Amino acid sequence: MKIAVLKEHADGERRVAATPETARKFIALGATVAVEAGAGLAATYADQAYADAGASVADRATTLAGADIVLGVQGPDPASLTGAASGAWIVAGLNPFGDRARVDAYAAAGYEALAMEFMPRITRAQSMDILSSQSNLAGYKAVLDAASEYGRAFPMMMTAAGTVSAAKAFVMGVGVAGLQAIATARRLGAQVSATDVRSATKEQIQSLGAKPIFVENVAGIEGEGSGGYAGEMSDEYKAAQAELVSAHIAKQDIVITTALIPGRPAPRLISDAQVASMKPGSVIIDLAVEQGGNVEGAVAGEIVERHGVKIVGHRNVASRLPADASALFSRNLYNFLSTFWDKDAGRPVLDEEIGDAVRLTQGGQVVNTRLLG
Ligand code: NAD
Repeated sequence: MKIAVLKEHADGERRVAATPETARKFIALGATVAVEAGAGLAATYADQAYADAGASVADRATTLAGADIVLGVQGPDPASLTGAASGAWIVAGLNPFGDRARVDAYAAAGYEALAMEFMPRITRAQSMDILSSQSNLAGYKAVLDAASEYGRAFPMMMTAAGTVSAAKAFVMGVGVAGLQAIATARRLGAQVSATDVRSATKEQIQSLGAKPIFVENVAGIEGEGSGGYAGEMSDEYKAAQAELVSAHIAKQDIVITTALIPGRPAPRLISDAQVASMKPGSVIIDLAVEQGGNVEGAVAGEIVERHGVKIVGHRNVASRLPADASALFSRNLYNFLSTFWDKDAGRPVLDEEIGDAVRLTQGGQVVNTRLLG
C-alpha cells in the first residue's frame, strides 16, 4: 500500500495533506509513504523531516508511481496523476459542487475520489472532519485580520490620556468558525454579539459570554436543515432578520460573517445600504466570500472599501495559518484512513455510512447521491 503526498498547486495554497507526524503514523500502519519534494515547505515542514519520519521524498512522477492512495489538500488536476495505480483513491477536499468537471474527470480516469468535505456530521466522524478543523482556524484568523485592519484597539483601555472604548464585534453565523470568532474576539477584549438561524446556537453564544441577537416569534422557523446544517430560510424570516440586523449593524465596529448553506450560494446577510450605515473605519470580514459572499460588494481575494468601511474577502483563510492548518488537516486524513485500516487487507476498507457519504466516483462512474440527486 503506497500513499503519495502531493505538493499543492492551487493559487495561494500553502497547506500540505500529510505532516512528518502523520507520515510516520501511516508507516507504522504498514504503508509506504512517498512525498513530492517541497510539498510541506510553505507550511514549514521540510523534506528532511519527512525523510526522517521514514518517507521517501522525490519528484512528482516518482511519488505517484504505483500509488494506491493520493493525499491532497485540494483536488489534484486529474491529468497530473499519471502513474498512480488504476482505481487509486484520491483523498482530498474536492469541492464537489463547485468543480463538477474535475469529479467527472476522476471518474473517467477510473480513480475513486473521496471528498473529505462530505464527511457526515456524526460523532464518530468528528476527528475526520476537515471542515471543522479548518473553520476553527479560519474563525480565529478572521478576528486577527479584522484587528489588524481596524484603526482602533479591541479592548477598553483606561490611560492617562483618556479612555479608549471597547470595539463592538458582531458575528453572523455561529457554526464552528463563528464560535471560534466569538471566543477570539472576546479574548481580545471586544464586546461581542452574534446571530444564527439555528436556535440551538443561542445558548452556545451565551456560554461564550456574547450577546445573542435573534429573530423571535416568526412562526415555524427552527433553522435546522439536515445533518446539523442550516436550511434555506422563508421570505418572512429573511425580512425579519434583515430588519433586526439593520438596526444592530449600524452600531458595530467589526462584523464577521460565516454563513454557509451546503451546495448553494452563501446567503446574502449584509446589503450595501447596511454597509453604508456603519461608521467609517469599521471592518467587515466575509468568510463566505468564495461561496458568493454574505456581504454585498465583497470581492474574493481583495480588501475593498465601501462607504469608508473595509470589506475583507481573503480566500482560503485557513491556509493563512499553514502550519497548524496542515497539522489538523493531516490528522483528519490520518484519523479517517486509520479508523478503517484492515490489517489483513493491508489497506483501508470503508464502511457504508461514511464510505457512501464521501465517495464521489467508483468504477468509472459518479456514484454520490448528492451529486446525482
Ligand atoms: P456551516 O459552515 O455550514 O455554516 C456556518 C453557520 O452559518 C451555521 O451555524 C449556520 O447555521 C449559519 N447560517 C446559515 N445561514 C444563515 C443565515 N441566513 N443567517 C445567519 N446564520 C446562518 O456550519 P458549521 O460550522 O459546519 O456548523 C454547523 C453545525 O454542525 C454546528 O452545530 C456544528 O457544531 C455541527 N458540526 C458537527 C460535526 C460532527 O458532529 N461531526 C462536524 C461539524 C459541525
